[in-house]
Amino acid sequence: MSVAENLKSIKRELPEDVCLVAVSKTKPNALIEEAYAAGHRDFGENKAQEMQAKAEDLPKDIQWHFIGHLQRNKVKYIAPSVHLIHSVDSLRLLKEINKRAKALDRTIDVLLQVYIAKEESKFGLDEEEIEQLLRSSDYEEMHNIRVVGLMGMATNTSNKETVAREFKSLKTFFEQLKETHFKNSESFKSLSMGMSGDYKIALTEGSNMLRIGSSIFGARG
Ligand SMILES: *Cc1c(COP(=O)(O)O)cnc(C)c1O
Repeated sequence: MSVAENLKSIKRELPEDVCLVAVSKTKPNALIEEAYAAGHRDFGENKAQEMQAKAEDLPKDIQWHFIGHLQRNKVKYIAPSVHLIHSVDSLRLLKEINKRAKALDRTIDVLLQVYIAKEESKFGLDEEEIEQLLRSSDYEEMHNIRVVGLMGMATNTSNKETVAREFKSLKTFFEQLKETHFKNSESFKSLSMGMSGDYKIALTEGSNMLRIGSSIFGARG
């Protein structure tokens, strides 16, 4: 199936309020242009310079999502073009994003990445670390970032119960934070969970933002 057909068949299953991020990492601009021609505007990348190059070459109304582990010294490459950073996993990184956003006289929206998987390799903060971050004076003093939600990646396993349990715990924590730290914030509303292999489970568990690559663009080499 073509990129346009893949997009259409996935979007058919999605509730209105769910944002579909088409993960175009490693894929050529021609394929992104195919999706763009089909009306798609949200794309996800996980390498800073790759996103920067694509943002320069492709239409300016694309909303670029940064979804991978982000090193502090790479923030400068994406700060002008990024729409949403899904993968904030430390206070130091958040400070660097704030600094770069301030220099550009803009606000950058971010999600805090929560560690929910049973795998050692996955990046993210645990619930206690997020509570600490949100209570810190450093956080209070940052005026050029806006925390608009949470992101999480489930364990890479065929065990659906494990995946469902991890997504459920993230949804619960999201609702809890909304009550405790973001009670008066209309903008804290994005819950980014679900990829090609597990997005149906993620939707059942309350995701409103999916990051789907291979089911749209085909397997990566
Ligand atoms: C690559 C990637 C995805 C998309 O993965 P697919 O299995 O191709 O859908 C989603 N989220 C993150 C963080 C990724 O790095």
